[in-house]
Amino acid sequence: MDGSDAPTLRNDLSAYWLPFTANRRFKQNPRLFARADGMFYYTPEGREVLDAVAGLWAVNAGHNRRPIVEAIQRQAAEMDYATAFNVAHPKAFELASRVADLMPGDLDHVFFVNSGSEAVDTALKIALAYHRVRGKGARTRLIGRERGYHGVGFGGISVGGLVKNRMYFGPGLPGVDHLPHTHDLARNAFTRGQPEHGAELADALERLVALHDASTIAAVIVEPMAGSTGVLPPPKGYLERLRAICDRHDILLIFDEVITGFGRLGEPFAAQRFGVTPDLITMAKGLTNAAVPMGAVGVSAGIHDALMEGADAPIELFHGYTYSGHPLACAAGLATLDLYAEEGLFERARSLESGWEEALHSLRDARHVIDIRTIGLAAAVELEPRPGAPTARATQVFETLFDRGLLVRPTGDTLALSPPLIVEPEHIARTVDQLRAVLATVE
Ligand code: PLP
Repeated sequence: MDGSDAPTLRNDLSAYWLPFTANRRFKQNPRLFARADGMFYYTPEGREVLDAVAGLWAVNAGHNRRPIVEAIQRQAAEMDYATAFNVAHPKAFELASRVADLMPGDLDHVFFVNSGSEAVDTALKIALAYHRVRGKGARTRLIGRERGYHGVGFGGISVGGLVKNRMYFGPGLPGVDHLPHTHDLARNAFTRGQPEHGAELADALERLVALHDASTIAAVIVEPMAGSTGVLPPPKGYLERLRAICDRHDILLIFDEVITGFGRLGEPFAAQRFGVTPDLITMAKGLTNAAVPMGAVGVSAGIHDALMEGADAPIELFHGYTYSGHPLACAAGLATLDLYAEEGLFERARSLESGWEEALHSLRDARHVIDIRTIGLAAAVELEPRPGAPTARATQVFETLFDRGLLVRPTGDTLALSPPLIVEPEHIARTVDQLRAVLATVE
């Protein structure tokens, strides 16, 4: 075919609208990845970029792991897709059982979805349906928390607490209220692990109960460790208090573990790390090592059984997605869970935690740093915002680090870090050295 017959192929960067990105700025200086392996990404020119955020808190076993890649390849060749409505395939049952085994307490049922956002909206709907089948249909209020991130569905942004994610999109779900966030620089700056101060902030739930009456409240949803707002570990005693108040008033407690699930805090879930068992757990990301999109909701036996026994229609929950339990995702999930177990990656995260903590806190005296928070293999380096230009400094640090071969996650004026759990001490040292060097040069 000569040039004149060739179809015109436009590839001028304009068609693709990037999510959660300053598109106009990005397109002046695009950052591209072409390949990934283990702890690293590679740009199209072959430049190595150390991944200090596990993609986006997700690639917990490291990139392009052969067993996961091969499981996906095998599954694609065997059966590409099967509907999950009225039909199923063996790997969905297998993966649900494996996830149930990892979950705490009596959370032993799993509803598959395709993302963290869908997991959140699904969990909220299960909570509402549960109360309704028990004859408590007036329990419709949902309580989130300031600074919470629960994805981008209308349910998730309603219970979420990040102003920019909410302010452009109307009033959201009715009947939603929020607990105060737990970030307290004055009392807790430079804490290692869980902060000492702030358990009493959970008592705000009692005030909401007094305001709305418990009989109108369905559920409380929190991230056990708030991630996207900049890594906020829960104050000591806080989650326990929240659990106790929920129990007192028959309110369901949902842990959004989309980030904390699958080893980030050295246990399968943050629930085990903090010794507090919720009624529902949302998960995604590390479930398949992010190799195929998948999310899930872990459901307690009590909630599941109430719906199975109390539903007034043959279909107990009018909810689900075309891709729920997708065969490729199930294959990826099973291979991922095998890898976590074979390589002991959750335990590895726990054993690396003190070295991680030590290394990160050595940045305490670096320029612009006003707080450092560490827990599990997660960390936040919070910077003093530039006067009149919030987020600008962290954005510039992110861009400079990228150019120097390190990927971190800027969020507000915080740099968040969450490396794959295969991280080696030399990668941690490199991360900290790069951060120190760039903080010294950026104004
Ligand atoms: N919930 C939490 C706690 C998250 O951190 C995220 C994403 O980072 C989500 C929900 C949304 O997940 P997704 O982007 O897969 O929809």
